[in-house]
Amino acid sequence: MAGQLGQTAIVIGAGMGGLAAAAALSPHFAAVQVLDKDTLPDGFDPRSGAGQSSHIHQLLKGGAETLERLLPGMHAAFYDAGAVELRAGQDIALRDFGGLMKEIDAGFTVASLSRPAYERVLRERVQALTNVTIDDQTPVKRFTVSNGICNGVELEDGTMVAADLVVDASGMNAPLAEQLAADGHTEYSTEAIRINVTYVTGRFAMPEAYRGERKGFFFLPAPPSHYFGLLLPVENDEWVVSLGGRGANVPPRDLEGFIDYASRYETDDIYKRIRDAKPVADLKMYRKPYSTRRRYDQAKRWPDRLLPIGDTISTINPTYGQGMSVAALQAGLLADKLASRAAAGVGLDGLAAEYLPPAFAISHGAWSISTNSDYVYPETEGERPVNFAVSRTVATVLRKLCDTDEDFLIFRYRLAHMLDSDTSLRDGPLAIRFFTALQGSMPQAT
Ligand SMILES: Cc1cc2nc3c(=O)[nH]c(=O)nc-3n(C[C@H](O)[C@H](O)[C@H](O)COP(=O)(O)OP(=O)(O)OC[C@H]3O[C@@H](n4cnc5c(N)ncnc54)[C@H](O)[C@@H]3O)c2cc1C
Repeated sequence: MAGQLGQTAIVIGAGMGGLAAAAALSPHFAAVQVLDKDTLPDGFDPRSGAGQSSHIHQLLKGGAETLERLLPGMHAAFYDAGAVELRAGQDIALRDFGGLMKEIDAGFTVASLSRPAYERVLRERVQALTNVTIDDQTPVKRFTVSNGICNGVELEDGTMVAADLVVDASGMNAPLAEQLAADGHTEYSTEAIRINVTYVTGRFAMPEAYRGERKGFFFLPAPPSHYFGLLLPVENDEWVVSLGGRGANVPPRDLEGFIDYASRYETDDIYKRIRDAKPVADLKMYRKPYSTRRRYDQAKRWPDRLLPIGDTISTINPTYGQGMSVAALQAGLLADKLASRAAAGVGLDGLAAEYLPPAFAISHGAWSISTNSDYVYPETEGERPVNFAVSRTVATVLRKLCDTDEDFLIFRYRLAHMLDSDTSLRDGPLAIRFFTALQGSMPQAT
């Protein structure tokens, strides 16, 4: 096979990160084996291995475009599964920093599905790759390492499976990285900040009067207020509605209390839609006590040919909808690294050291956006970065500019959707206007 770098690659975890990684590996290995401990459903049902499945998930445009690059036809597959097309800047009324963002055509659309549907559609596409197999109910116990190189995995039942490359997509609790450290093959530091965020989520059939409406509503956290609320239309003429709070401010889990909680937002957009809507599932609660990231990139020792992806590197406050897209972008990075090694005739040696820093950088961008509002809450436990006041001012000035300048408004949507990076504010066409606005807003040294 042209471009082949090895015989077998193993991916642990068949969530969004593991599936995207399998697509990246497929052109370069004779066989790619995806192993998951969970039972993977045939339909669009939430599953226990990804406990967050029932809650609202938006796939950002940057993530969706990367999946399309890895698996051409992905966009169309999402729409075939019933995704609702939403025009960014117009179809989702967005309140951020407490104010409604002006309406604008940001120049792109997003495909809105439930999380189980995104995953099921992606799984179907990955399963169709002839050299990929997905085995569920296959828990992995540990990575096997010899002479500093990961050479496979040991399953819970004791079976050893050899591989030329292993991807860890086992999610936010990072069970296998912990085991790797316990086995003495690595030593890495973990940063955790206590955010104490709770989601309660309902899924509703749209009443007749709203059928065909393509509108979402986001009330993002606006410190010092302790709540947020998100509604998106998804497949099957349904809404997913997640109401959230911080600390003791936990949305009720009974329907009456949930609807009452929705009536407290600045506008009644969510409330009036769900007050007479029929729930199609029980309300689900998800507590997210910590944002956590693991510095595998700075580990004292890290086995070569072992690549972590997605939540195992970094798991953050999900309110900004970034996790699936971070995983997709890391899979895109992996695809690029493998393709250039194949083109140069270079094998897999040294791949982990080459991949880990840029993979961390992708998750760091998302971490910065979410912690920028988390740290404003005094009860958030964790050491604020030294430049926190500056980065908060930058975010506040950018938000204000969006009320008066459409170029900044469009840029901010592109930034939020991981299509642009904030370096454009320093050296792109907006830089001079941005620094002019920033003057006088910077915090004074004390
Ligand atoms: C409430 C909530 C809302 C969210 N909203 C959004 C959103 O709007 N947009 C967004 O992009 N992201 C959102 N996220 C984040 C998103 O869910 C994650 O970032 C994303 O799912 C990470 O994918 P992953 O593949 O790394 O992990 P997961 O999807 O969690 O997959 C990990 C997989 O590994 C398997 N596994 C674990 N251990 C083993 C083992 N030992 N052996 C075999 N298999 C194993 C599990 O069964 C699971 O299938 C949200 C998260 C939460 C909690």
